[in-house]
Amino acid sequence: MSATSASRVAFVTGAGGGIGRACAVALAAVGHRVAIGYSGNEEGAHLTVKECGDGAMVVHVDVTDTASVEAAFAAIEEQLGTVEILVNNAGITRDGLLMRMGDDQWDAVLRTNLDGAFRCIRRATPKMMRARFGRIVNIGSVAGVAGGAGQANYSAAKAGLIGLARATARELASRGITCNVVTPGPITTAMTDALAEGRRTELAQQVPLGRFGTVDEVAATVAFLASDLAGYVTGAVVPVDGGLAMGH
Ligand code: NDP
Repeated sequence: MSATSASRVAFVTGAGGGIGRACAVALAAVGHRVAIGYSGNEEGAHLTVKECGDGAMVVHVDVTDTASVEAAFAAIEEQLGTVEILVNNAGITRDGLLMRMGDDQWDAVLRTNLDGAFRCIRRATPKMMRARFGRIVNIGSVAGVAGGAGQANYSAAKAGLIGLARATARELASRGITCNVVTPGPITTAMTDALAEGRRTELAQQVPLGRFGTVDEVAATVAFLASDLAGYVTGAVVPVDGGLAMGH
């Protein structure tokens, strides 16, 4: 840990695999004590803790449930201390064409991807304010800036994360709290492994860099935004998308 960067308590939601796990591991690698949130994948969360090493903990959190968010923060505070770095990574997709999209598909995605981040930010910030330090990173998506066909719910939720981050950034800037959004393009994870091979190839061809990104490439950006040195970056939308959405 350098003189410009302290060891802090970080909470990553949905960190039992994929991008969340990589973020947790990247934060642990620079000396932070990380709480690994999971909603269903407890086994994955324990594997993440193993990769993070000493100082990490597993915590159940369903971000759609205020009581669950409260219980998770309370458990982290008891075991590790005040959450100073929050990574709102939990997310789901329920893709479908707009005209056929059911209320349940819309609600589930908004409730998890957008409302979930709001709940965690609301719970985290009073203590960050007292500490006069906070780093919040929302994991958005290219779909939230460029739109995704068949993803009206997901695109709206991810765009909402930008408004949420910017409102948070303005409201809490004077307290040393920053809030930013990372917008990944197609990244190799279980979420994109579920796509048909042909669709994956087609997507990769649309990316100027010609390939899917890796979870580590997303995590490196998140770790920077969570660092003390990123203290002058707030309300920013930082793409990690191989150039896919440049200009948006
Ligand atoms: P994963 O499916 O591996 O990760 C999603 C995570 O969200 C899971 O760990 C899951 O936890 C968690 N989660 C789902 N519902 C809830 C809930 N109600 N409460 C708490 N946690 C929940 O996919 P990725 O790693 O790919 O996605 C991570 C983030 O990155 C998402 O926000 C996604 O939208 C975003 N993203 C991904 C891209 C990609 O190409 N992969 C591109 C752009 C953005 P559990 O398994 O424990 O239920």
